Amino acid sequence: MRIVEDEERMALTIQQLLSTQRMMSDIASDGEAGLDAAMSGIYDLIILDIMLPKLDGLEVMHRLRDSGWQTPVLLLTARGSVSDRVRGLNAGADYYLPKPFASSELLACVRALLRRPGELRADTLSYGDLTLSTETGVLSCGAESIQLSKKELELMRLLMGSGGAPVDRETLLLKVWGYDSMPESNVLDAYMSFLRKKLQHLRSHVEVTSRRQIGYCLREKEA
Ligand code: CA
Repeated sequence: MRIVEDEERMALTIQQLLSTQRMMSDIASDGEAGLDAAMSGIYDLIILDIMLPKLDGLEVMHRLRDSGWQTPVLLLTARGSVSDRVRGLNAGADYYLPKPFASSELLACVRALLRRPGELRADTLSYGDLTLSTETGVLSCGAESIQLSKKELELMRLLMGSGGAPVDRETLLLKVWGYDSMPESNVLDAYMSFLRKKLQHLRSHVEVTSRRQIGYCLREKEA
């Protein structure tokens, strides 16, 4: 695995994190060195920062794909920079991770990309204009995406999995929190309002609706 990142601390943190999972990696600290390394063909995955000296990550991406290399690339982007993410994916990156990211998030992406080299991740759920990566907890709508917390991910997985049918409160509470730590019922409502905010942020046409006495479901808003 090759890490192309000029910020030494970030690069070392990633390297150390990978080594805890017995994954070996080398570091390149500028775009040119990164591209050379990537084109050597000996790496199974390239973790590529966008802001790099000499050659930026997007340019590295372009040249790599133009030369026919299909090595999976995980792009590290600045949070909120939608245009970078879109350009990165258009340039042939397999996945992007906005900085700062959680260790678990990075490892989940790396594992998924190593499992399916050169392909987009397949363990996803869709509903309406939404796509959920159940492994990373990234919820996307068009070019926008947002990270879900662990509980939000589990709730969203259940709601998307039911395909719009209502899921009752009891089921949601039990499956997400379990018998032992079942919270007050209003905790569920609080989480649903977090999800609603995230859907609004994504400008999704999907909304979370509450069915009195029954539970919650997803619904596509009328245009
Ligand atoms: Ca950088």
